[in-house]
Amino acid sequence: MSNKRFEKIITGVALSPGIAVARICLLNDGRHSDVPEYTIESKNIVTEIERFYKARATAMQNVIRVAARVRSKIGEAEGGIFDAHVMILEDPQLQEDVEHLIKEKHLNAESAIAETLDNYEVRLLEIDDEYIRERATDFGEIKRRLLDELGEKLVANCGDGECQRGHNRIVVAEELTPQLTVDLDTDSVMGFVTERGGVNAHGAILARALGVPAVSGLSKIRDMVSCGTEILINGTSGEVVLWPRERTVVKIRETEPDQLRMPTTVEPVDGLRVMSNISMPSEIKCAVAMKSEGIGLYRTEIELITGGSDYCEDCFYDSYYKVFCENQGAPIAYRMFDIGSDKKLPGLNIPNERNPALGLRGARLLMKNKDLLKMQARALARVSVHGNVSVTYPMIVDKNQFLKIKQMFNDAISDMEYGQIKHGVMFEVPSACLLAEEIMEVADFGSIGTNDLVQYMFAVDRDNELLVDEFSPDHQVLWKMLELVSAAGKNRDKTITVCGELAGDPRYIGKLIESGVSAVSVSVRMIPAVRTAANEYFKKN
Ligand code: PEP
Ligand code: MG
Repeated sequence: MSNKRFEKIITGVALSPGIAVARICLLNDGRHSDVPEYTIESKNIVTEIERFYKARATAMQNVIRVAARVRSKIGEAEGGIFDAHVMILEDPQLQEDVEHLIKEKHLNAESAIAETLDNYEVRLLEIDDEYIRERATDFGEIKRRLLDELGEKLVANCGDGECQRGHNRIVVAEELTPQLTVDLDTDSVMGFVTERGGVNAHGAILARALGVPAVSGLSKIRDMVSCGTEILINGTSGEVVLWPRERTVVKIRETEPDQLRMPTTVEPVDGLRVMSNISMPSEIKCAVAMKSEGIGLYRTEIELITGGSDYCEDCFYDSYYKVFCENQGAPIAYRMFDIGSDKKLPGLNIPNERNPALGLRGARLLMKNKDLLKMQARALARVSVHGNVSVTYPMIVDKNQFLKIKQMFNDAISDMEYGQIKHGVMFEVPSACLLAEEIMEVADFGSIGTNDLVQYMFAVDRDNELLVDEFSPDHQVLWKMLELVSAAGKNRDKTITVCGELAGDPRYIGKLIESGVSAVSVSVRMIPAVRTAANEYFKKN
């Protein structure tokens, strides 16, 4: 590493363990809020039209590239989602409308593109058909891609041209959102540094699942660095070193060896069943390699959000069936889409909420978006023809709500053939936990989501980097709640799994077992550490 500047050490919040040393890829997240708008002189019309066509050609290449990557990482159907974007870019009407605005109104290419695509989007949103309205967001996506090509790039200020969407770099962004995982080459990103975001936010959970070190809570980091700055991050301690000296790099590497991409397998343990949390079908291979005893939580909403707006029952079915086949017969709990709060699906047009974590989210949101619920229910029913399927409903508040959403699921599949489907409840809202006895009379199984349970029990925002110390499981009353829910399952001989981040923390495994927990579901790379902790616990007790 060269040392043009004095090294500077700053400390943020440790999100995902491991060390990384690389140059920065600075993301320009807020780049689409102000579209440059000016009039052009007649003599520049041809050049401006050429700018548009050049941007269109590059945007098209990029969409085709993303489609290929999504196809290989997630699946054929999801890759196909991007074909719609290529079709829009190829549409002669779009080209005609943009050209018209440049020629007749003398608009610059950026504002001609924005005006044309905003118009299309508004017109589709006015149509009284939910499916067509959902397609409207494709135009917003195309607009952003074209504007990116005209200058306001996602990857800002890449003077040397080497910065390719995070490839071999540490990505610096305002916030790590699930959506970013598609735009970046996550297989080769070395680390993440963000201004905002808590340890239990979904972006952080994804970074840990990918095994990529991450630090957040550095509120001014984007003003301090530029694309290409050399940086060291320690995702275990939260330390970030700008312009690190050679000896700092050597020292830190000695004390903290690099995070291995995947730890060594540990055999299953009698007394604690250890399953996997997955977000993408591609994670199933690692889960099987780690001898995971099933999938306790499949966060189906992540691929929905990252896949764009062109979803369909067939696409869902392809993903769910792929996981089913690759899982070699072990059980899978498909969680129904938990959209809302920090997991926004643009096509649903959720209004801006003052308190999104207390707003339209989980079961509540699904019950208001019947078509989406129906599509997912039918896809899962098709999988159940091949073998047992378990379905978990997120953010359930009481027995009535559970019965209602389960009925909606059953109504959605009443005209089709299906196999055995078990219906379970996420225990992550305090009211549901307190009502665990009556809920477990009617539910087939339960899953305790400690991330949201801690958030709602102690009124502590899981996404807020300023509250990391307050977001703690070290409250006796939380453990009483876990005992209560576990007992409600045991009393009826029904499985209760703990699937929040707490379950993947080896320090709490003994305490979980003592609270009556006999099954956990954890991030795939935490399986060996959890099993080792369980073995140690059983040896001592
Ligand atoms: C939880 O809340 O603990 C949970 C497992 O669900 P998610 O983290 O996806 O909200
Ligand atoms: Mg949750």
